[in-house]
Amino acid sequence: MNERNTLKINQDGHLEIGGADAVSLAKQFGTPLYVFDEAYIRRMMGVYRDTILKKYDGNGLVLYASKAFSCQAIYRIADQENIGVDVVSGGELYTALQAGFPAEKIYMHGNNKLDYEIGEALDAKIGCIVADSYSEIDKIDAEAAKRGMVQTILLRINPGVEAHTHAFVQTATTDSKFGFSIANGTAEKITAYALTKKNVKLAGYHCHIGSQIFEKESFVIAVTKVMDFAAEMKEKLRFTMETLNLGGGFGIWYTDEDRKIPPEGYAEYLEALIGEVQRKAQEHDMQEPFLLIEPGRSIVGEAGVTLYTVGAIKEIPGVKKYVAIDGGMFDNPRYALYESKYTPILANRATEACTELVSIAGKCCESGDMIAVNVSLPKAQSGDILAILSTGAYNYSMAMNYNRNMIPPCVLVHEGKAEYIVRPQSYEDLNRNDVIPERLKK
Ligand SMILES: *Cc1c(COP(=O)(O)O)cnc(C)c1O
Repeated sequence: MNERNTLKINQDGHLEIGGADAVSLAKQFGTPLYVFDEAYIRRMMGVYRDTILKKYDGNGLVLYASKAFSCQAIYRIADQENIGVDVVSGGELYTALQAGFPAEKIYMHGNNKLDYEIGEALDAKIGCIVADSYSEIDKIDAEAAKRGMVQTILLRINPGVEAHTHAFVQTATTDSKFGFSIANGTAEKITAYALTKKNVKLAGYHCHIGSQIFEKESFVIAVTKVMDFAAEMKEKLRFTMETLNLGGGFGIWYTDEDRKIPPEGYAEYLEALIGEVQRKAQEHDMQEPFLLIEPGRSIVGEAGVTLYTVGAIKEIPGVKKYVAIDGGMFDNPRYALYESKYTPILANRATEACTELVSIAGKCCESGDMIAVNVSLPKAQSGDILAILSTGAYNYSMAMNYNRNMIPPCVLVHEGKAEYIVRPQSYEDLNRNDVIPERLKK
């Protein structure tokens, strides 16, 4: 096993997460269990924050993209680390506010924000809304006028760079439900439109080119295009871009097919973006914009591990060996959604050699309910504690109650000790909103 930043194998041959023994955690809290290493999360937030401080005179803000993992405790950590957050729904906004997160450092995204979400954002006086349609601009303007305020917005634009993990393509116009294309002129049109609104202050642009991206060049090309576009808007519309939000998308390690970047290594991505912003600002004789970035996955992804207990083992001779666990797509739907790859470890026998190729199956009534297919493990036995690594991002936040399975709790490890940050669900929770109409009652 590769030594991960947050993971170790201790003297008992057990996996350790942020200094806590995974086998003990499984005993103490039960499985399935999401475990987060607080130190790793803080380190990642700090790397991005300090890079803006040192390489860009602090003229910017890191926003944690909280859709990757949203609960009250993570907003507290982001606040303590002096960064902002972005939210993509009224529910995330509510959670952040409940946690006491300062509203002025909250940015709101979404391609179809609902009326009540816009109202809630304005009532809370959040820092900025990233607008993504004409009708949304109208609504923000009208709602802001009602409240006698001016709402700062950014426009989501599409630079025509589409990035994937190991490759990226540039397209003239991008087919996407997000943003307005630079290439086909719609980004310019909506800029002109936003500038006509009295109760909306257009501060600049936002772009986000994709997720799980390792290619620095794809981020840099996006910056080039947005900066060129901003220069054009300055000339054509006399609009000065004060703020530029470059989104998130930095890749993390899931398996050895991915690059493994230590937390400090992520500074390079940000430095490359900053370098291009500065180069282009100089070239076009523009002011350097207030810079925002929105990493989600890279902040929490490798900080998280999910622990399961191995149950049934089924071998289909000559075909496959299925190792079933007490979780599945209800706590991690990413394989079912994208055939995402993960690395498993037997946490109670972490030093043993991997001798078998197995597939890790969930307990849901769906053939596609898998967590990892054809992965190597030591010979697993019922009762073993299985850890799936790099599950901190888009696992808990995508969890569901399919088959009326209970969404597992989350614990946060701090200096070797774990505490709940999301408590376990109960059967009562699953029935909380159920209603039996009078005529159906027994
Ligand atoms: C999802 C998302 C992010 C975060 O992306 P990661 O790949 O998790 O870093 C940032 N900005 C926007 C607009 C997003 O939709």
